[in-house]
Parts: sequence; structure tokens; C-alpha cells
Amino acid sequence: MTTKTHSSAELIALSETYGANNYHPLPIMVSRAEGVWVWDPEGKKYMDMLSSYSALNHGHRHPRIVEALKQQADRCTLTSRAFHNDRLGPFLEKVVKLCGMEMALPMNTGAEAVETAIKAARKWGYKIKGVPDDKAEIIVFDNNFHGRTTTIVGFSSEAQYKDGFGPFTPGFRLVPYGDLEAVKGAVNDNTVAILVEPIQGEGGIIIPYEGYLSDLTALCKEKEMLLILDEIQTGLGRTGKLFAYQYDEGAGPDMLILGKALGGGIYPVSMAVSSKEVLGVFNPGDHGSTFGGNPLGCAVGIASLDVLIEEDLPGKAYRSGEYFMNAIRSMNSPHVREVRGKGLLIGVEIKRESGVARPFCEKLMDEGILCKETHESVIRFAPPLIISREEMDFALEKVKKVLC
Ligand SMILES: *Cc1c(COP(=O)(O)O)cnc(C)c1O
Repeated sequence: MTTKTHSSAELIALSETYGANNYHPLPIMVSRAEGVWVWDPEGKKYMDMLSSYSALNHGHRHPRIVEALKQQADRCTLTSRAFHNDRLGPFLEKVVKLCGMEMALPMNTGAEAVETAIKAARKWGYKIKGVPDDKAEIIVFDNNFHGRTTTIVGFSSEAQYKDGFGPFTPGFRLVPYGDLEAVKGAVNDNTVAILVEPIQGEGGIIIPYEGYLSDLTALCKEKEMLLILDEIQTGLGRTGKLFAYQYDEGAGPDMLILGKALGGGIYPVSMAVSSKEVLGVFNPGDHGSTFGGNPLGCAVGIASLDVLIEEDLPGKAYRSGEYFMNAIRSMNSPHVREVRGKGLLIGVEIKRESGVARPFCEKLMDEGILCKETHESVIRFAPPLIISREEMDFALEKVKKVLC
């Protein structure tokens, strides 16, 4: 059967009949995509302003990344880590140098890279810092999002993420985001790490006070803890810098977690990047993944990073973000409480008296603009970083129609 025999409505019915109901997508079926645009089977065109939660920073099907995928698919796709593959070394070198770090451990999904960071931090705590067995603690934040494994949802502050999935992994301390004193109060001799998002993306585009990450960096140095930044959503150009933490001059992470756009919107590729001291704690057999570091993913990852740098996607995101945010602010919409963001990670918060964000997203969909609400009251605009001025103007016209 090909998709040609089904209408959008029939295809949606099929997924709903045979798929677990763990998502609530907008009722739009995508069957073709290019750049910032997607098409449904009936040929209707929409602009993608969600970018698969920032996995599509390069846009849909960037030709250089597709070409890298095709060439690698014709040579070798998988070896497992039982053997070496000739794409892994060059990819690791590129990522590590770009991050100014020393070593990396490749995985596939974001949640796996977060799990990797947690395992590394705990083992570093026991072997290097000297924390007593099974006592390691990691500080995490209210409103965090780090993925959906049982360990990770166990330290979520979102009741629904946890409901029905316990018992949970111990060893995590939740404190309010953007409150340095709260972090200081949670630190003890067994604290091995602080795990934090530079901007909380799923949490509603929450930006902490300026200097927060420098303050956490200093605290980590003082108390011999690792500062682990989850840049899965904010990294690789999204916020107008290569990494969001680079807005804060005094910030110095001990570990970076990357995912999403690392795979160029084509293939799942993730990574924990850190020092020899930290990732050096892993010995053969301690950790692994059958597909992690596979040659297809590495080839795609190399091309994604090359495109990111050569096309200056961080710079583009910075300039486009300023333009887009200023344009929405100047609409003076009666429904908008605040427009906030960095680069092209933008949240438009709807006033309480105007209801929740989803109906606005549905109206935008009818106008051909795809975006998704986050945390009930916030419309997230996060288009591919390659978006042109003309494409932004097209979107802004529709946004004005819906918001004003
Ligand atoms: C998406 C995301 C993750 C999880 O990545 P998956 O690939 O969905 O497992 C973790 N942290 C942040 C900040 C994310 O945005």
C-alpha cells in the first residue's frame, strides 16, 4: 500500500487505531517536506514553525545532509561498537573541538544522552570525588524537561509525566529554576552535579536571570560538582549562538548534552561531551548502545555540523529572532502578555483572559502556519534557522491575522 491510496483523514484514523495514544497532534498529515515547508497528501502547503522541537534547525531535507546520508548508505550503515567504523573518529573530533571539550560518548536520542550524563556524573562522583557508594545526588530544577525514561521522569516536577510510572530512581533534588540560593541550600557533600537547561524550552521558554549560569559555574567549582548543561533543544544555533550558555561569559560547563539538530533533522544522533576526567570513568562494558556512533549517524552528524558552521546558522537565528520578536511585539496584540526568547526559540505568552494557547495554534494551522503550544498558555515559534525574510513576513502576516 502506498500513501497515495489514503486521504489525510484515513491516515490519521489508521494511526489512531493502531498507535498508542501518547500524543495529541494537530490534525494535519505531512507527506512531503522541503526547507521550512511541508505538504499534506492533498497538496496543501504549510510552514513548519515548530521544527520538530528544534531537531530541524537546518530545515527539512537539507540537500548536503541528504547527500551525506545517501553516500554513506551506499557504503556502510552499521557495525555496532563491536568493531570500529571509519566515520566515528572524525565525527567525535569535530563535535569535541566545536564544544571546546576533550571527549564524547555518542548515543541516539536525547534521553539516552541525558542518561549517559547521569551515569558519568555518578561514577565520577564515586571514583574521583570520593562520594560514598550509592549516595550521589544530582540537583535538577522545577519545570525541567530532559526526556521520558523512567529515571528522567522520576525527577520531573510535572505530575502527568510521572503518574503511573513509579517507583522512581532516587538521588535527585528538585529546586526552583533561576534561584541561586535554593541551589546552595540543596548542595551537600554527596552532590555530584547540577543538571540544567540554559533556557527551559518545554517549560514554556523560561529564561533565567542574566549571569545564572556563571553563578552555577562558580558554585560547582567551589563545591567540586559538575555543571551539566542540557543543550539538546537550545544548542547548535537555535538561540542565536552555537550554544545558549555562550550568552553568559562566565559560564563554563563540565559536560554538554547534545541531540535533536545534531542529526540534521534526518537521523537520531545524540552525544554527551565532556572532559577526559569525567568520560574517562567509563570502562568497556559500563555503558553502550547498538546504534550509538553508527556510521550513517556519524556521516549525517558531520554534514549537519559543517552546514551549521558554513551557513552561519547561529548568526542567522540571532538576526531572524530579533526581527520576528520585534514584529510580534509591535503588533500590540490584545491577547499577548509577553513575547520572549533568544534567537529563534520564541515564546508568545497568551493573557489569562484570552484563554489557552491551543485554539490560537489551531487558527494558525488553518492559515497554513504550524506551531505548537507549550505549557498551556505559550505559543512556541521555533522555525528552521534557514528561514528567509520573505518567509518570516508571510508567517507574520498570518500571525497578525490570528492574534489581532
Ligand atoms: C527533546 C529534549 C530531550 C529529549 O530528547 P529525545 O530525543 O526526545 O529523547 C531532552 N532534553 C531537552 C532539553 C529536550 O528538548
